Amino acid sequence: MRFDTKLIHGGQGPDPLTGAVNVPVYLSSTFAQSAPNRHKGYVYSRSANPTRTALESALAAVEEGAVGLAFSSGLGALATLLESIPSKSRIVADLDLYGGTWRLLEHHRRTFGVLTDYVDFTDLEQVRQAVAAGPAPAMVYAESPTNPLLRVIDLAASAKVAHARRSSFVVDNTFASPALQRPLTLGADIVLHSTTKYLGGHSDVIGGALVVRSKARGEKLRWLQNAVGAVPSPFDSFLVLRGMHTLGIRMRAHSAGAAAAVEVLDSSRKVRAVHYPGLASHPQHAVAARQMSEYGGMVSFELAGGMPAVRRFLRKLRIFTLAESLGGVESLVDHPASMTHASVPRSEREAHGVTDGLVRLSCGIEDPADLADDLRNALGSL
Ligand SMILES: *Cc1c(COP(=O)(O)O)cnc(C)c1O
Repeated sequence: MRFDTKLIHGGQGPDPLTGAVNVPVYLSSTFAQSAPNRHKGYVYSRSANPTRTALESALAAVEEGAVGLAFSSGLGALATLLESIPSKSRIVADLDLYGGTWRLLEHHRRTFGVLTDYVDFTDLEQVRQAVAAGPAPAMVYAESPTNPLLRVIDLAASAKVAHARRSSFVVDNTFASPALQRPLTLGADIVLHSTTKYLGGHSDVIGGALVVRSKARGEKLRWLQNAVGAVPSPFDSFLVLRGMHTLGIRMRAHSAGAAAAVEVLDSSRKVRAVHYPGLASHPQHAVAARQMSEYGGMVSFELAGGMPAVRRFLRKLRIFTLAESLGGVESLVDHPASMTHASVPRSEREAHGVTDGLVRLSCGIEDPADLADDLRNALGSL
């Protein structure tokens, strides 16, 4: 099956009991047994629920992994994954991470002595040195494209560096989604998602996922999924699965919206820099062209006028809504320094380019011409 077909049929089929073409929302916490431990594969909905199973097998199919696991949030997925690594072990991670990911890694440092070294993954030599220094890392971790600066990490090359020391390479694929890149096919061992974003796609559900290449590792994480219990409800599982059906056409529309936005931003004198992997001037454009099929809906840029310009610009927008999160059908705008990345200290933030003038767009699937007009109008007011 090709990708768009897989989104609708991969790991899914009509309900075996009724023929319903969509998996029913099995709102049941427990399942009848005919005798002790004699059941139809379902015992208790924390361990497994048929609606969640449908989502999990679809996730495995579209990311090309052996095991898919759904969680109640992206951070719930990460927290469960972190439960699988021993205390006092080492992680090597990229320095541009979702703020909540950084916060949880730092919590593990304080509580379990798990030390994370943050290095610049766009410079593979730095990754090689960090991975080689000291005991083999339990995990090598990166997002690509990164949040909010849209840097692009060479996933195949990073996987090789991790594997040279038998470390797992984990990729947060939230920004690209499997429609644009499939890290497991490039050598990653585990893919993490905030399904809250593009997979759900409608800003109506919080969810997370892990997709694991090895069946054995996947089954260990399935054990932890049940032991920790950060599982999504049957209804939330249904919403994510429903969103996934249209991921292919949505990602093409998101990419078209972003391209229109970038054209306006890139030609404006009010904008100091535009960060978008689709731009030929993007420092990792060649890597992006190699590992992504399109460049996605996320764009960030720096307003020349700093914070005062940001405030005015945000007030003038009509279609882009000021809100955290991303990946929904509606366009959103975010000010990372004061919103999504406020938990990262200013010095750390600014050291790698998250300045007060930085604005992040999640381009929705509205008509690209309306997105362009909205930005042109707001820039015109500066
Ligand atoms: C939102 C996000 C997360 C966290 O996911 P939640 O569903 O909010 O817990 C992790 N990584 C990235 C890249 C995100 O954008």
